[in-house]
Amino acid sequence: MTAAPDKELSKPSNFLRQIIERDLEQGTYAQRHWAGQPADAATHEQGVPDPAKIRTRFPPEPNGYLHVGHAKSICLNFGLAQDYGGVCHMRFDDTNPEKEDQEYVDSILDAVKWLGFGWDANGTSHYYHASDYFDFMYRAAEYLIEAGLAYVDEQTAEEMRHNRGDFGKPGTDSPYRSRSIDESLQRFRDMRDGKLADGAAVLRAKIDMASPNINMRDPAIYRIRRATHHNTGDKWCIYPMYTYAHPIEDALENITHSLCTLEFEDQRPFYDWLLDRLSEGGLINKPHPRQYEFARLNLTYVITSKRKLKQLVDDEHVSGWDDPRMPTIVGLRRRGYTPESIQLFAERIGVTKSDSWIDYGTLDQALRDDLDPKAARAMAVLDPVKLIITNWDQLMEDAGHAAFDGLYLDDCSAPVHPHDESRGVRNFKFGKELWIERSDYEDVPPKGYNRLFPGNKVRLKYGHVIECQGAVRDETGQVVSVLADLVPDTKSGTPGASAIKVKGVITWVAVADALKAEVRLYDRLFAVPQPDTTEKDFLEELNPDSLKVVTAYVEPSLASAKGDEKFQFERHGYFVADRKDHAEGKPVFNRVAGMKDSWGK
Ligand code: ATP
Ligand code: MG
Repeated sequence: MTAAPDKELSKPSNFLRQIIERDLEQGTYAQRHWAGQPADAATHEQGVPDPAKIRTRFPPEPNGYLHVGHAKSICLNFGLAQDYGGVCHMRFDDTNPEKEDQEYVDSILDAVKWLGFGWDANGTSHYYHASDYFDFMYRAAEYLIEAGLAYVDEQTAEEMRHNRGDFGKPGTDSPYRSRSIDESLQRFRDMRDGKLADGAAVLRAKIDMASPNINMRDPAIYRIRRATHHNTGDKWCIYPMYTYAHPIEDALENITHSLCTLEFEDQRPFYDWLLDRLSEGGLINKPHPRQYEFARLNLTYVITSKRKLKQLVDDEHVSGWDDPRMPTIVGLRRRGYTPESIQLFAERIGVTKSDSWIDYGTLDQALRDDLDPKAARAMAVLDPVKLIITNWDQLMEDAGHAAFDGLYLDDCSAPVHPHDESRGVRNFKFGKELWIERSDYEDVPPKGYNRLFPGNKVRLKYGHVIECQGAVRDETGQVVSVLADLVPDTKSGTPGASAIKVKGVITWVAVADALKAEVRLYDRLFAVPQPDTTEKDFLEELNPDSLKVVTAYVEPSLASAKGDEKFQFERHGYFVADRKDHAEGKPVFNRVAGMKDSWGK
């Protein structure tokens, strides 16, 4: 047996890998301790040396189904942790007191697991909720006030906006900025104790109202909001702002590399400011986590905004979150994309620091590369027309074969996989009546056309060579059947079969043993490559032909297909038995991707 190739070596480097490798080399985080669970500095200090070489996290808000952009983030965070002896934490960012929807939580956990990742490591389940840290966040806020680093501002929202300034104009100090520490502390406790109305005051970090970075102009870190939280109930009527909560979540969890998308770049100075202050105060472990930004994924012909995907579902433009045209992880899964293909895709697109659009064809290519060596082959006719072998019965009779139920049938076979003999063969019949693709016949062949036209010879794959006679049409001119004669002694796999050279090979199934199947031919969800980037309403950019349902005939080996099983339909591409609707006796297949890239054409 040869050793498996080192997976690591085949992964392209990127700026994040370089940062991590440098940190590991320099031992940046080597001295840190881990309490066995998220904790403050003192508690971590009493723990063991952190067994994880690095810690990353995937922190979704449980407010929708994950999409392909999240898949990139999942592959990145979990993948890097895996590659560098680290762990990735599964964390729900539930600091907003909105109702957490169990449906979303379940689907998110399911998506991460399906993609091939988990959060159990070193005997611990690294599954966390940001709301578990509310007590610490409150304590840290009081610390900031006591250190003269935060104050309660009671300006109106309007005044606050006005005094913030803008890009060209520095902000103006709030009159409350200079109030005493004691007064701020008292007012903050009043906020907490429900003595102030929603919106009457906020706690702000005291940094620099003249900073060129508007995020550093005394950002709000706590607001009053009377809302019941799914986890903490009515304990709190004040909630931390995301920009304040996120760095603290990372710090308590000992995260080393906090990866986020580029729009958070301007937040990084505050992230560092806050963690510097809190570690100076001895509240959080040192050295503290670092934030690194990467470009979010934009994929052509789809959209990646949870809110807009929800609109497609709510307005019934698609059949649900798992509609196979949806770029949600449940949609991709039902369409037939495999976890491996999505991981491969994420690896190929890499991570960069500048926004760009990735061609949808890249995802399909990853799917083909994953499935080509794995998927069983099958023949299917998607737009069927009958082919009649006019001399078949005579040939069979002359050879002394017996007819069953008036039909002469012959056995044919084909490999399950052309490059893996051990997977055996598929068996099917050949007879007088076959189904072929309507597009495989022309009265007058266009230039370069090698398939059926009067006088031309083609090979029926795994069957015989035939010579076309012509076609029978109905009164509307539509072809009802194509006629051909079989050329004797040309059966595939028999001696001398290839004596007659033909240019065209076509696929087929026999009328006698083919199965009728519903085949769903999916196309781009949007008609334009970059939907939702202009003034136009994105709904007007939907592709009206994104789904075509056809009744096809498929070879009998597919009778045993299981839901979610993938196949290559020869010549047509990759198909999956629909995980919801496919059933024995009622086959339903989805087209995942064609044999070749047609996205750019
Ligand atoms: P949306 O805007 O679609 O609601 P979000 O960023 O608000 O997405 P979160 O639940 O906060 O959704 O995202 C969880 C993680 O996934 C975050 O770390 C976020 O940066 C990342 N993420 C979200 N969208 C993308 C994307 N298109 N490409 C890469 N990463 C993404
Ligand atoms: Mg978000």
